[in-house]
Amino acid sequence: MRYALLTTACILLAACMPPAPKSPPSDPLAPYRAALAGLPPEIMARAEAAPVRFAGLLRRIWAVEDPLYLARVDKEKPLPADYEPGDLVSLAEYPFALARRDLRLRKPAAEAARELDAAAKAAGVTLVFSSAYRSYAYQSEVYERHVRELGEAAADRISARPGRSQHQLGTVVDFGSIDNTFAESKAGLWMAANAGRFGFSLSYPRGAEGLTGYDWESWHYRYVGKEAAALEAEFFGLQHWMLVFLERLFSGF
Ligand SMILES: [Zn+2]
Repeated sequence: MRYALLTTACILLAACMPPAPKSPPSDPLAPYRAALAGLPPEIMARAEAAPVRFAGLLRRIWAVEDPLYLARVDKEKPLPADYEPGDLVSLAEYPFALARRDLRLRKPAAEAARELDAAAKAAGVTLVFSSAYRSYAYQSEVYERHVRELGEAAADRISARPGRSQHQLGTVVDFGSIDNTFAESKAGLWMAANAGRFGFSLSYPRGAEGLTGYDWESWHYRYVGKEAAALEAEFFGLQHWMLVFLERLFSGF
């Protein structure tokens, strides 16, 4: 009798239970967990709070044809001396305010800059393009000039050795004065608030020198694409961490 009651209770209980899933629930973060695990824990926490959004942005980023848009280039990860993008265009062909006429960018970055520049103009802001693509040889000259003027240690804080400059990618623009008075200028404030919407990201923010290897550069923006700019803003907080994450993901570390 006792056994029969127990059996009935079990059958009733089973009837109330939801059916077991045929396969375990899928985890959108599964392909990314290992690469995220080595980064600051708040990044994983943000991804876990919005896993579908995180994975969806990454899937759209894969659609970018050229991974160099998101290559990590810094003091630890140099570009080859002979790397020169094949699609550089003259910014003199665009309606930009140029500090010099010989500036060039990769075409997709220049087109994104056209959109950025038009939005700035519509808001009554003038963006002055002061520097863009720099070849390995040109970066050598810039760095050596800084060493002559400041000494090696001080030069390394503000200037990249050849191969270590994001400018060699052809996707970076220095705006305005190329000093931190830019941050408080109308253009600097507008860029800080709006650049991400057009796919541009501040490479060397204030207080991140220990990670990026460079002093705060409020004027130096890198084109990463709209999806990557959103990924950075929503999950990584810093371009550096996003690039490290992508590098880990691509290389399988
Ligand atoms: Zn720069």
